[in-house]
Amino acid sequence: MARRGRIFVLSAPSGAGKSTVGARVRQMLPDLAYSVSLTTRPPRPGERDGVDYHFVSRQEFQHRIAAGEMAEWAEIYGNLYGTSAKVLQETLEEGRDLFLDIDVEGAAQLRRRFPDGVFIFLEPPSLAELERRLRARGTEDEATIQRRLARAASELAQAHLYDHRVVNDQVERAAAEIVEIIRRDRARRASA
Ligand code: ADP
Ligand code: 5GP
Repeated sequence: MARRGRIFVLSAPSGAGKSTVGARVRQMLPDLAYSVSLTTRPPRPGERDGVDYHFVSRQEFQHRIAAGEMAEWAEIYGNLYGTSAKVLQETLEEGRDLFLDIDVEGAAQLRRRFPDGVFIFLEPPSLAELERRLRARGTEDEATIQRRLARAASELAQAHLYDHRVVNDQVERAAAEIVEIIRRDRARRASA
């Protein structure tokens, strides 16, 4: 029987660079499966349905929660975000490792279900740099930026619960460090 896959979870405060660094990690490890999350947030310019997220209505999301179809979910800045339990289970049963980019609340839910998962926290170099990046992205209004910064402080306080902490000073360097964490974990498993 094929070996079960492993989950690799990347969390970070919004604006720390999780999407940018995560995309680079996936380029460098193309065999890593990626879980496309469901969200009720409207798409940002350039985001594609089924690629960046599955964009669904709140009614549909709530229906899926009630039907037990979500492996984890959280309400963030007034929108629902979550991971499909079916995709997650099927991928792991196929023996493929799965990369997830989710918030700290969702990560804590998965930690309970997958104690052997690898949990990585991506930190901004500083709160000031986080604020600069959120503004530079230019996708949120001022009130939303302020909400994200307020939440960032409580998210950063949970960084110690993760197996690894990586500072996103430079995209290439941070991505390479995450790839190394994944490679080392795979090598350990292969020799176990
Ligand atoms: P997240 O997915 O965590 O919300 P993004 O990946 O959208 O964050 O990054 C937020 C902004 O910061 C984007 O404009 C991105 O280009 C920029 N960014 C990401 N990583 C870095 C970095 N290491 N140095 C400078 N800017 C960065
Ligand atoms: P954004 O709106 O900037 O794309 O994402 C906002 C937050 O939602 C980020 O912290 C991101 O990691 C988180 N997020 C994205 N997908 C999921 C998911 O499936 N589950 C959970 N719990 N959080 C998610």
